[in-house]
Amino acid sequence: MRIRYLRTRLIVTSVCLLSLVLGAVFFAVYTSTDFSAERQAQRQLEVGSNVFRNLLEARARELTNATQILVADFGFRQAVATGDLATIRSALLNQASRIGADQALFFDAQGDLRISSATMPGSDTAQVESLQAFSEQALIAMIDHRPYLLVEAVVHAPVPVGQVAMAFSLDAALAREMQKLTGLEIRFVSSRDKEVMSTFSTTPYAQQDMSLQQGTQRLEREGYLTTAITLLDQAPYSVVAQMASPLSDALASFDDLKRELLIITLIALLASSFLAVRLSGGLARPVTLLAEAAKRIGRGDYTHKVTLARNDELGLLAESIDAMRIGIAERESLIAHNALHDPLTGLANVGVMRERLNSSIVSGQSGVLAQCNLVTAELMVKARGQSFMDTLVRQSVACLGGQLPADSLLAWQPGVGFLLLLERRDLDEAVVVIDAMLAQLGEKMQVEDIKLRSQWMAGVVEWPLQGRDAGELLRQVSIALGDAAPGPERIAVYQAQRDQAYQRRIRLARDLRYAPEYKELAVVFQPKLDLASGEVRQVEALMRWTHSELGPITPDEFIVLAEQTGSIGMLTQWMMAAVASQLRNWIDRGIHLQVAMNISARDLDDPQFPQRIEHLLRAQQISPEYLSMEVTESAVMINPERSLNSLRVLRDLGIALAVDDYGTGYSSLATLKSLPVQDLKIDKSFVLQLAEGSDDAVIVKSTIELAHNMGLKVIAEGIESIDSLNWLKERHCDVAQGYFISRPLAAAALEQWLEDTRGTFGVVESA
Ligand code: C2E
Ligand code: MG
Ligand code: MG
Repeated sequence: MRIRYLRTRLIVTSVCLLSLVLGAVFFAVYTSTDFSAERQAQRQLEVGSNVFRNLLEARARELTNATQILVADFGFRQAVATGDLATIRSALLNQASRIGADQALFFDAQGDLRISSATMPGSDTAQVESLQAFSEQALIAMIDHRPYLLVEAVVHAPVPVGQVAMAFSLDAALAREMQKLTGLEIRFVSSRDKEVMSTFSTTPYAQQDMSLQQGTQRLEREGYLTTAITLLDQAPYSVVAQMASPLSDALASFDDLKRELLIITLIALLASSFLAVRLSGGLARPVTLLAEAAKRIGRGDYTHKVTLARNDELGLLAESIDAMRIGIAERESLIAHNALHDPLTGLANVGVMRERLNSSIVSGQSGVLAQCNLVTAELMVKARGQSFMDTLVRQSVACLGGQLPADSLLAWQPGVGFLLLLERRDLDEAVVVIDAMLAQLGEKMQVEDIKLRSQWMAGVVEWPLQGRDAGELLRQVSIALGDAAPGPERIAVYQAQRDQAYQRRIRLARDLRYAPEYKELAVVFQPKLDLASGEVRQVEALMRWTHSELGPITPDEFIVLAEQTGSIGMLTQWMMAAVASQLRNWIDRGIHLQVAMNISARDLDDPQFPQRIEHLLRAQQISPEYLSMEVTESAVMINPERSLNSLRVLRDLGIALAVDDYGTGYSSLATLKSLPVQDLKIDKSFVLQLAEGSDDAVIVKSTIELAHNMGLKVIAEGIESIDSLNWLKERHCDVAQGYFISRPLAAAALEQWLEDTRGTFGVVESA
């Protein structure tokens, strides 16, 4: 539609332009012919005017000669001198008729007109008025109200005795004669007091169009160019000779030219319009073709080659559009491929896997989904870089080629690993296939410059037994992979219980960060009984978390989680503040207890930690002896050097330190010797079932002895019975802690407990 519009526009524009140009040419030629016709007429007028003047002058000379001859004639002079009017008349008329003068006049010595030839014989009364010089000899005069060219001469005998005048009438005959000579129309117009008295004219043109103004002018209606010569202008008379050159004659000579010009112009217009139509068609057609090609490309049809057999810009444009068509087609197929495939391996991507899984589930099929990843993927990326890892993956894909069942689908997802879909297989069958795949992946291979054997693990999930859609299955299979471990456990099958535990972990890890803010944390204190004195001078601060929805969470669950997720620092901070404020409160109220805080490996890792403790104690004005810290031997062993530093600083501050859960780690007492600790806390697992002669009893007994030898005080935790308490007391254990003495209590309850049990354990001692 647009192109057609373009074509119409091109045609209309070019035809308009051509019409304009040709019209201008035509107009210019047309007007210039008119102009030159007018010029020609004007020149004719000029020439005519001159001829007219010359003619009048020639007539005047003729008259002059005739009158001169007459006044020179002796007989005539004689007749005049004697007043012989008959002779005078005869000679005068004779001479006048000889030269064809229209009027001959004789004036006597007094100047009175005596003879006038034009009047009736016997009446010589003519009225001569308004004389005006025309040339040297000639005058224009009104005689009996008619215009004449008049010449006069004085008759001397020898004194002036009279005067002779001869005149030609400025009448129609003269006008006709003039017309013959000049080719112009002539008119003599006499007027009196501006009113026309007589007109002698060769032209038929209307009286009212007459213009008696001097100079050339155009009489449009009549088609004449006129000029007027004033012969007499003496009030009340005026005589004007008007000459007119008909324009039609001059114009007629151009008529053929104009006709031809019109025909040529029309032919040129037609021819150029035809050409314009052809040309615009020639321009619009390729544009239409290109537009259609562009439309096809826009629709996604890249099959048609775009060509135009021309070497101009349009041909070039067609080539460019074709290059664009090829480029777009290539890129589109690449994009389409990339939308479904992983660019690194060329395998299907997770999107395709989801599709297949969903359609398989919808069609009611069963199957197994596996996720496989490299055991040390992260380490390998860190050590050798991503490109090494990429090469390894690519080579692993190559080595898998053709090994997997034909109806399986293998996909790769960066950061996730391989995803293998095995339809219509039960778990046992699938595990065999997956194990073979892991074995294949674990084969020795050369990657870049090193030969290596990589270890792979897999998580497996069955459907429809476990998952109901692709998203759920993919989540479950990655949980299963998390449970896999190198070696015999390299393939882990997803179990729903594990998932629940996992979900709970995720939730706790998420919510723990907000526990202080939501005031869900609390601190309880468990008394430590000094076995020698029977007094409680120390308590252990233990953290409690009551989740708003899940209820109380045990420290064994959330402390481990906090250590893994990095929230432990925040919890320790909270605990420090809680303990310090409780201590301040107790000291103020005269209750003097040493409070033991549990600290983690990460706290020891933080070089600022001892400083923060110091600031806090100073801020609350608490003496460091009121605080003690328990740290597990395994926490110390994670980064012994840094831990040792922190412990030393804490010790130097005056804070008592204890190794907690002793016996659960691998460190020997000799290792502990290097630590700046004063107390050793035997883990409750050894204390809970203390019976004479048991392994635990042997361990505890020897530990107490060895610790004492090394100058350490021994604390036993997990005392649940009086027997255990007594047994320990007998073995000179220094401090005892356990449910038998008291469960961990809130501050107020502890105060009450202290009140209630004062001296009680002394009784136990004696029992
Ligand atoms: P722990 O430091 O060894 O604390 C002693 C644990 O033994 C406490 O468990 C205590 O309630 C329990 N216990 C004491 N006497 C008996 C008994 O006679 N029988 C039995 N079965 N258990 C007894 P709890 O409070 O559940 O704390 C568990 C662990 O959580 C603590 O072991 C400690 O390692 C950690 N923990 C608690 N609070 C904190 C804390 O604020 N910071 C850090 N880093 N760890 C903490
Ligand atoms: Mg402890
Ligand atoms: Mg412990």
